Amino acid sequence: MSTVFDTEIKFLKGVGPSRATLLEKEFGIMRYKDLLYFFPFRYVDRSKFYSIREIDSTHAYIQIRGQITKVSLVGEGKSKRLVAVLSDGTAAIELVFFKGLKWIQEKLKVNAEYIVFGKPSSFNQTYNMVHPEMELTSEQSKSLAGTMVGIYPSSDAIKSSGLTNKSIAKLEALLLEQTLPYISETLPQYIIENRKLCSLQFALQNIHFPTDTRALEKAQERLKFEELFYLQLSLLKQKHTRMRASTGVKFNKLGNAFNTTYNNLPFPLTGAQKRVLKEIRSDVVSGVQMNRLLQGDVGSGKTLVAILSAMMAIDNGYQACIMAPTEVLAIQHYNGVFKFIQDSGVEVALLTGSTKTAERRRIHEGLENGSINIIFGTHALIEDNVKFRNLGLAVIDEQHRFGVDQRAKLWSKATVPPHILVMTATPIPRTLAMTLYGDLDVSVIDELPPGRKPIQTVHWTESKRGSLYNFMRKEIASGRQVFIVYPLIKESEKMDYQNLEEGFDAICEAFPPDKYVTSVVHGKQKPDDKAISMDSFVKGRANILVATSVIEVGVDVPNASVMVIESAERFGLSQLHQLRGRVGRGAEKSYCILMTGYKLSEDSKKRIDMMCQTNDGFELAEADLKMRGPGDFEGTRQSGLAIDLHIANLGRDNAILEDARRIAQAVLDIDPTLGDSRNSLLVSQLKELKFEIKDYSNIS
Ligand code: ADP
Ligand code: MG
Repeated sequence: MSTVFDTEIKFLKGVGPSRATLLEKEFGIMRYKDLLYFFPFRYVDRSKFYSIREIDSTHAYIQIRGQITKVSLVGEGKSKRLVAVLSDGTAAIELVFFKGLKWIQEKLKVNAEYIVFGKPSSFNQTYNMVHPEMELTSEQSKSLAGTMVGIYPSSDAIKSSGLTNKSIAKLEALLLEQTLPYISETLPQYIIENRKLCSLQFALQNIHFPTDTRALEKAQERLKFEELFYLQLSLLKQKHTRMRASTGVKFNKLGNAFNTTYNNLPFPLTGAQKRVLKEIRSDVVSGVQMNRLLQGDVGSGKTLVAILSAMMAIDNGYQACIMAPTEVLAIQHYNGVFKFIQDSGVEVALLTGSTKTAERRRIHEGLENGSINIIFGTHALIEDNVKFRNLGLAVIDEQHRFGVDQRAKLWSKATVPPHILVMTATPIPRTLAMTLYGDLDVSVIDELPPGRKPIQTVHWTESKRGSLYNFMRKEIASGRQVFIVYPLIKESEKMDYQNLEEGFDAICEAFPPDKYVTSVVHGKQKPDDKAISMDSFVKGRANILVATSVIEVGVDVPNASVMVIESAERFGLSQLHQLRGRVGRGAEKSYCILMTGYKLSEDSKKRIDMMCQTNDGFELAEADLKMRGPGDFEGTRQSGLAIDLHIANLGRDNAILEDARRIAQAVLDIDPTLGDSRNSLLVSQLKELKFEIKDYSNIS
C-alpha cells in the first residue's frame, strides 16, 4: 500500500527534478519519508551570540552579530573571491564567498548590521567564515530568533547547488505541514507507556524544529530508542528462531580427557576462566547448538578454555578442531597442548598449509575414522577434502581474521552442526558486541592470571632515540628480547616498507651484528624466510625482532619484555593495545615504548595518552569506540556486518541500547513468535525495516 510518505521527493514544492537527483545522489533521499527521516546532526541555539574575539578553532557553527566595514573582490580566476570584513567592536572576521560573487556583492551593505551564522575556520592566523548565512538585523525573521536550529548534513555539491541549511529546513517544514496528520505510531502503545516515550508525531516535529531543549531531548530519546529497539528485536528474534530450530549434540559426561587435563594444570584457573567454562558447559548440555563469542584480553587464558572445552567433546565421543589464523599460531597452540594432555589418551594432530603430503594423508584418514580427537590448524582445516567422523566442537581463534564464508564451510562438516566457540582478543565493548553479535552469546574473561606485572607504557619522541637504544641494550644485556614494530598501511605500503628497511639498517648500525642478532619479519617475505626469522626470535636466538604490524596476533614469546612501536600515532587504539599485548607474558617487568613525531593531532595525542594511562583492553575499546565511532571500529568492517544507524550512536547511547535490548527480550519472553495481536505492529515494522544484518546463525 503506498501512502503519502512514498511520494517521490521531486514533487515536493521547492525541490523539482534536478534537486531531487542531487538529494538522491548525496544522501539517498528519494521519497517523502526519506526526507522526513533526514535529521539535523546538531543544533545551534540561535538566541546565543558569540563575540568575534571569543572565536577559536574549536567552534562548530556559531552565530555572531556585527557591521560590515569593507567588501572587496580579491584574487584572479579560480581563486577569485569576495571578502567582506565584519566587525563587532571586539574584533573583526573575514566572510569569504567563492560563488555568486556579483549577486552577493550587490546585496551586502557596508555599515549595516548583520546576524551571521556559520562555521569559523582559521587561515594564516586569522579567522574567517566561508559562505555564512547572513541576515540584516533589522530583517531577522521572527521564526528563527531565539530557538534551537537544526543543522543538516551537507556536501560540496549540495552547497554549490544553493541548497543552504535554511532551504533544507524550509523543505522539512513544508513536508511536516503536509504529512504530520498522517503519521501513525510505529511502536505499540504499551511500550510507549512503559518507557514514557513521546509520540512519533511529536518526535518528528521536534527533531526538526525543537521548541526547546527539553522537547529536543524527548524527541531524540524516542527516535533512538525506537531504532535500537527494532534492531535488538530483530537480532533476538533470529536467535529465538535458531534456538528452536537447531538441535545441538550433547556433551553430558565429564570423563578422563577433561579430568586428566584439568588435574595436569600447573596452576589454578582464574575465576573468570571457571565462570566461562561453566557458561560453555551449560550450553553443551542444553541440546541446543552453542554459538558463543569468547572475548578476553591478550594473555587472559582463552586458549586453555578452548582446550578444556575440547575435552568435554572428547569425553562424549566427539572430535574438536581448533583453528588459528596463522601457521605460527596454530603451531604454538599445538605445541602448547602437550604439557596439559599427558596420560589423557587424547590424540592430537596439526594440519597447516605446509603439512607434507604423506602426513596430510594420515591426518585426513585419522579425522575420518575418528582416531584423531583434536585437530589444530589453519585454513587448511576447512578445505573440502577434510572430513570428520563426528565433529562436535569447532573453536575459531582470533575471529576477525576469518571470513564469513570460511566459517560457513566449517559448519557444513557435520550432520548436526557442531558447537561453535569464537575467540577474540580484540575486545569489543559490550554495547557493540550486543549489536554486532546480537545473535551470539558473549562470554568475557575479564581477569588476567595472577602474577602478571602491568606493562609500563611511555611516550617518547625522536629526541629520546639515544635513550631508547641504551634502554634496549640494558634489557638485552639482562637476557630479554625486544620487538620493534613499524606501521603498515595499505595506501602507503611502499613508503612503509622503506621505513621498515631504513629502520632495520639503523638498528643494525646501533646494534652491530657481531654482538646482536636482529631478525626481520614482514609480509613481503617468502613464507620460509618469514618462518625462519620468526622462529629465531621465538627460540630466543634473536635479540631484536623488527616487524611490520602484520606480526602474528597471538605470538607468545614470554622472554620478550620490550615493545617499541614506531610512528605510533599512525596506529588505532585497539591495534596499539594488541601490539602491546605481545609483551608482558613472562614474569619480568615489561615495557611498551610509543615513538612518535613531535607534532601530533589532537586525536593521536588522546590515543597515546590513553595507552600510557591504562592496560585495560575493554576500557581502551570503549574509548576507541567513542573517539572513532563504530563504523571505523576494528573488526567491524571485516565482520561483513553493515548496520546503518540513523540517529542512535552505539558509542554514546549505551544506556538506551541496554534498555532497548531488555525490553525487546521481555517482549519475546512473553510472545516468542510475536503472534499476539498487540504485537502486530512489531511484526509489520520488522518487515518494513529489514535490517541489513547477516544471519549469523548460518555462518558461525
Ligand atoms: P590468550 O589466548 O587469551 O591470549 P593464552 O591462553 O595463550 O592467552 O594464555 C597465555 C599464557 O597464560 C599461557 O602461557 C598460559 O599457559 C597461561 N595461563 C593460562 N591460564 C592461566 C592461569 N589460570 N594461571 C596462570 N597462567 C595461565
Ligand atoms: Mg591466544
